[in-house]
This record gives sequence, C-alpha cells and structure tokens, in this order.
Amino acid sequence: MKSLRKKIEDRVRETIIQAHRRSGRILISDTTLRDGEQMPGATLEPEQKLRIARALEEAGVHSLDAGFPASSDADVKAIRMMVACIRKPVLTALCRTLHSDIDIADEALDGLPDHKRGVSLFCGTSPLHREFKLGRSRSEVLQLITNSVGYAAEKFRIVAFSPEDASRTEPDFLCQCYKEAISAGATTVGFPDTVGLLTPEKTHDVIRMIQDDVPNIERALLAVHFHNDLGLATANSLAGIAAGANVVQCTVNGIGERAGNASLEEVVMALTLHADQYQRKHSIDTTKLAPLCSLVEQLTGIAVPRMKPVGGANVFATEAGIHQDGLLKNPDTYLPYRPELVGGPDISLVLGRHSGRRAVMHHLQSLGLPADETAVIRVLTRLKELPGGTVIDGRLLSCITQGE
Ligand code: MN
Repeated sequence: MKSLRKKIEDRVRETIIQAHRRSGRILISDTTLRDGEQMPGATLEPEQKLRIARALEEAGVHSLDAGFPASSDADVKAIRMMVACIRKPVLTALCRTLHSDIDIADEALDGLPDHKRGVSLFCGTSPLHREFKLGRSRSEVLQLITNSVGYAAEKFRIVAFSPEDASRTEPDFLCQCYKEAISAGATTVGFPDTVGLLTPEKTHDVIRMIQDDVPNIERALLAVHFHNDLGLATANSLAGIAAGANVVQCTVNGIGERAGNASLEEVVMALTLHADQYQRKHSIDTTKLAPLCSLVEQLTGIAVPRMKPVGGANVFATEAGIHQDGLLKNPDTYLPYRPELVGGPDISLVLGRHSGRRAVMHHLQSLGLPADETAVIRVLTRLKELPGGTVIDGRLLSCITQGE
C-alpha cells in the first residue's frame, strides 16, 4: 500500500505536469553544458560553466542539463557551483540506468528544493544499441528502465527518461519503453534523434504516434532532442513542437558532437517570429541571445561560423550596393528582424567592390570626410580596383578622398 507521503508526492507531480501541459508553453531546456560540452575541443572548466549557466538563467531557460556527475569530478564540481548560485532554472544531471549514477546525482544536486532539481536517465533502446552496446534483450532493457526510473523517483520529484537512439528504435518497442518509464515514475520522457537522421515530416509523424500510442503519455511531458547531421535539427525541433512536444532541448550556437545539436537561438527566434503559427509561448528574453552566443564562443573556443543564424558575424552585415541602399532607407527592407531584437551588433555596411554610392556617402559622412559627388565617385572607382580582402578603414578612405 502506498504511504500517505508517496500519495501526496504523486499528486504534486501530477498537478505540475498538468499545469505545464495546459499552459501550452514550450519549455526551453538547455544542454550546452552537457551535450554541447561533449563536442571535441569544447571542454569547459567549472568556473566557465558557471558563467554560461548564469547567462542562460538570465536569458530565461526553463531547465539546465548541468552535467554528467558520474563521468567526472569536474562535472560534480561544476554542478556544486551551480547549486550554490543558480536559482531560477531547474538543474538536471545525466545518469545511466544505474543506482550508483543516481546516488551521485542526488549528492551533487543536494541543497536545491525538489522542484528545482532532477535527473535525466538514458538507456539505448534501438536494435543497434541493444545488440552491440548493451548486449541486452528487449525485456532486459525494459527491466533496466523500470528499475532505475523507480529508484530515481524515490529521490527526485523530476525524473526524465530518454530512450537513446529513439529515432532508430522499433515504434512498438519505443512506446513500450515510454509506457514503462512513465508507470515507474518518469515525469518527462525524451525523444532523442541521437544520430540526427530524421526529417521534419518523419519527426511530426513519430511525435504524433507517441502521443497516440503511449496510453499514459498524459502523465508526463514529452521532450525532443535533435542532432544536426543533415542540417535539420532546428527544422525537426520545430516539427516536434508543432506535433505537440512540451519541451525542446538545444545548445547555444548548436555546439555538440559531430554536426552539433539543435541551436537554441535558432529555435527560439523561429518560435518568436512565427508565434502566430506555433502558438507556443516561451520564456526566453531574445535580447540576451547574441551576447549568449558570443559568451559561449569565447569560453568554448569554438568559433561561430560567419553565416550562422542569429550569432554569426555576417547576419547584420552587407556589402551589396542595392541592399546597403535599402538598409539605409529602412533596415527592414533587407532584414528578417532588427539586431536589437537579439541584442546583436548594429547593422554593418561593409565597403567593398559590391558597394554602392549611398553606403560610400554614409561612411564618408560618418567619418567627417568630404562626401561630395567627386569624393564618392573616386572612392567607388578605387573600391573596384582594390584587391579582395583589403581592409577598408577610415585611414584608407581618407587617403582615397584626398586623391592618394
Ligand atoms: Mn545528444
């Protein structure tokens, strides 16, 4: 017979989950510090993780995948530092389906209130993982899930379970894994596309299938987690959200193993600019996004590609004359959104071979140089002759206008 305490605890879990589900909000879960940091070359020191965690808190993420405490002392140290400082997001720790991993997570997250700490359990479920990685049958895998989720639920109010390689797991078995995990006490079930091979259409179908075929799915939140091996992680995340997922897991700058993870800033901006389509509110302050991208770039040492949406150096820069002319007349002519919306840098009108007279005039005026017709034509002519890659700065423009 269930004890009274257990019954009350079950009721609390149920109430929280139902409130989340009814709100229609999409919960943004960040895994930069765990899945992102797993990327070769992106290793972060505990102090650096804390700086990023603070920036993520300020940006408004709902939960933070804080690390894998059983994997290293550095992860435990980083989590302890976060426990001491981070107040708003839920902190979760990654665990295998081992009691010892859950115990270490319990210690690492000690001190946080029940509603601000959780564990995220994972176990390979696809035929490839069962046969080659685990050497376990379907029923043995189900046993591992039930046993570990049940154990975790005794220690944590928030328990997530993810069947690793879910996108290559047989649909009937996948649903069975979810059903057992929820029965054992999982409050969130994840759908990880571990090797990043789905398309948006297939994502939509599988997320609908899970909601239709897992009989107790209403008792848990459904989280999606995509990798970018086909360049579709953002698109798949949006398809998952459109199909009814409650939580989306992402990393800043899309950092992560192989081709990376779904990029937090891209998913958030798509949800923001297409609020009419998705009808899902999120809690992110978009003006914090560009500074967040820069911070993660700086601390991980993983350079953001120039063309990367939201955080790339080129997204508010143009060299083309017609575009420069339009931007000077009204920035919206050639931008999907203004830089201020993401806390980005001012629009930059780069001078080069493709530039036009308006941009040249604008630059000359802002530098206090003569901007008459003769000066503008002189600069335009010289720009077309200069070798590619020449830095067009104030000094060079001053020389050109003076006929040097
Ligand atoms: Mn992953």
